[in-house]
Amino acid sequence: MAPRNVTKIWLEPYRSFGELRRGALPLRLTCRTCNVILRADLDVLIWARGRAGSPIDLHPRCKRWDCNGHMVFQGHVGGVWRPLISG
Ligand SMILES: [Zn+2]
Repeated sequence: MAPRNVTKIWLEPYRSFGELRRGALPLRLTCRTCNVILRADLDVLIWARGRAGSPIDLHPRCKRWDCNGHMVFQGHVGGVWRPLISG
């Protein structure tokens, strides 16, 4: 098993919303409670958090009606959607 503190190389291009925009990388959100999948609006994210803001370890509230869950950002890396979580 890999050590816990190993750096996830594939997270690098997803470090900031500015880099995501430059690389036109695919980004989506999924809810850990209801599993709904939403498109991430990069314009809104940059407006709200700035280009230096990061989707890694960011868990906004689910936007689905009547769900109190939290969402996780996912990037499309190597053909699969991976959660953008550092730990
Ligand atoms: Zn939800």
